[in-house]
Amino acid sequence: MRIIVLLGAPGSGKGTVAGHLAASLERFYHVSSGDMLREAVRSRNAVGLQADGYMRRGELVPDELIARMVGDLARGMPASSTLILDGFPRTLGQAELLDATVLECAARLGPVVLLSVGEELLINRISGRRLCSRCGEGYHVSFMPPQRDGVCDRCGAPLIVRRDDKIETVRRRLQVYKAQTLPLIGFYEDRGQLCRIDGEGAAAEVVERVRLALV
Ligand code: AMP
Repeated sequence: MRIIVLLGAPGSGKGTVAGHLAASLERFYHVSSGDMLREAVRSRNAVGLQADGYMRRGELVPDELIARMVGDLARGMPASSTLILDGFPRTLGQAELLDATVLECAARLGPVVLLSVGEELLINRISGRRLCSRCGEGYHVSFMPPQRDGVCDRCGAPLIVRRDDKIETVRRRLQVYKAQTLPLIGFYEDRGQLCRIDGEGAAAEVVERVRLALV
């Protein structure tokens, strides 16, 4: 098993890049910690009930909670798979818990891809983000608009703004990123595993830059 990490601020394009790679490369799987947690909140299970408040405030859920979910998923995947982690790890504690999972699964970790995007563009990207209320398809009002305003191209359901994409929460999420996730850059750089990629520009260009970094 190979584990690739996508690191970057909210709005840096981790989900878009991971989605494209998983759709185009065989045995590559997109593992989004945010999607896993949102699904847990929707299904109102024990993890969801615990995570809900943190997510509403734009804060991180406890390390063990999310590390256990990702670890359980990795243990259930075939050895031939490549997992693209989108949104995990986000703290040094989580990076250590990930090392334990890597060992346990006899996996290979790397590269850790950092998507660099300026703050103004991050806020622009997040505040224009829309999500289908039924199938979850993602859009952006300027960069990736639906054919009909406010309606999903794929299933026709109304588009919504993600609860934590509201501007006050976005600012909080960026603060949390700087305080808790930025230290991971030095951590992986010291281990020679970090690969910096320019995350600005069209999605297809960024995906191509990352794809080249993986080979
Ligand atoms: P995302 O979709 O990756 O932006 O994640 C949305 C929210 O889920 C975050 O603001 C956190 O509240 C929570 N979350 C996602 N991944 C993690 C993680 N690795 N550690 C802690 N909280 C997380």
